[in-house]
Amino acid sequence: MPVPSAYEPAGTGPVRRARSAFTIRLWAVRHAGFLEKVYTLLADLFLGLHPLWKAVGYQRVEKPVVLVERTVKAFVFDCRMCGECALSKTGMSCPMNCPKGLRNGPCGGVRANGNCEVEPDMPCVWVEGWQGSRQMAGGEAIHTVQPPVDHSLRGTSSWLRVTARAAAARDAANSEEAAP
Ligand code: SF4
Repeated sequence: MPVPSAYEPAGTGPVRRARSAFTIRLWAVRHAGFLEKVYTLLADLFLGLHPLWKAVGYQRVEKPVVLVERTVKAFVFDCRMCGECALSKTGMSCPMNCPKGLRNGPCGGVRANGNCEVEPDMPCVWVEGWQGSRQMAGGEAIHTVQPPVDHSLRGTSSWLRVTARAAAARDAANSEEAAP
């Protein structure tokens, strides 16, 4: 009697990449606590440089910053430059590596070994993300519901966006304090 196999949609096959393809990404998750500290330092540095970005123009610095951000984050996180980085809320596991692009937790297809149902040799980015979040001081942020991806931001710098928002929030708080 033939052994029943798992259902597979017609005309498709699982994507197979060697586990070594995910080595650095998995390292990042294992060191999520350390990377969180690096991220905080970097965010403070960028915020400190806000007067410079403003003087030169955020638009003008976008291109060189994107080049650096893309290079660094592609190497460490397999970043897809979605433009709205969620790493600090996803245990340093980039959710855009989920073949289904899920930004709010795993689907129901995670395999018993914790791997992805679409890419059987790839650890589920959300299983990894949960483990990474347990090492982070701000790990509880993984419970935050993420808004849908805004595809118009794709390819833009998340670093600059976060900096501009933080600077605007800081300025608003300062002017509230200064108000009589
Ligand atoms: S969440 Fe977006 S910006 Fe952050 S690493 Fe993933 S693709 Fe890159």
